[in-house]
Amino acid sequence: QQQGGERSNKKLGLAHVDHIVAVSSAKGGVGKSTTAVNLAVTLATRLNLRVGLLDGDVHGPSIAQMMNLHGKPTTSEGPQPLMRPKDNFRVKVMSMAFFMVPDQPAVWRGPMVNSAFDRMAMGSDWGKLDVMIVDMPPGTGDAQINLAQRIPLSGALVVSTPQDIALLDVRRGVSLFNKLRVPVLGLIENMSYHQCVACGHKEHTFGEGGVQRTAQELGLDVLGEVPLDIAVCRRSDEGKPIVVSEPQSPCAQAYMEMAQRL
Ligand code: ADP
Repeated sequence: QQQGGERSNKKLGLAHVDHIVAVSSAKGGVGKSTTAVNLAVTLATRLNLRVGLLDGDVHGPSIAQMMNLHGKPTTSEGPQPLMRPKDNFRVKVMSMAFFMVPDQPAVWRGPMVNSAFDRMAMGSDWGKLDVMIVDMPPGTGDAQINLAQRIPLSGALVVSTPQDIALLDVRRGVSLFNKLRVPVLGLIENMSYHQCVACGHKEHTFGEGGVQRTAQELGLDVLGEVPLDIAVCRRSDEGKPIVVSEPQSPCAQAYMEMAQRL
């Protein structure tokens, strides 16, 4: 469902993209990029959708490594050349990391970030996609507002860990999307609990029930509760998302439920 008046996907490379969904978090380090990657790969490999993944975290792009993709994309010929997204695990990907020197930070300011983002979003040949997942920059400031206004978002997911402080930020994140008239599709609780491999006991390391309560107060659903699992981290670093490398794991199942509820 589209809201916000004049939004239209008819912008060059995005012309045949049906839905654009932002994965956001009000603060860094809560697992936003991990969620974006595993959700995108699940939608593509398990639900057979045509999926794109756009790394909007221009200053700290981590999607490329998590998807095991490197090097500059090629560009098509013709009067309106478009960059060709790279693909892996049946997902088409664009990230600033493809253009950056390894270990060097992106030192760009506002307008350059915007034009880099526009080139990746509108200047890439995404082809026909059922859904594009956008890994948003963390926070609730100018960077997020800019991005949300540059592409026609169908909706947003807000990722949080169960801590109280993270939840305060979640309210700010949700209210930002409300102001931007982008429907919030639901909350995702990451690092929800840790399950002991020896006895199966579930430990709610960062607290329990907070995301559910916040979701209820805000009139939202919790679309997924992803456990804390060292394999998520290890697999991300290896460039083999857990949903393809360990599809039977509780984490992979949590992403599957999330994808089905989207
Ligand atoms: P963000 O995009 O919010 O900054 P990341 O997705 O980069 O966060 O995740 C931060 C770190 O936490 C990474 O090292 C990642 O592998 C790890 N991580 C994310 N989710 C989980 C999880 N459910 N279990 C274990 N580690 C996780």
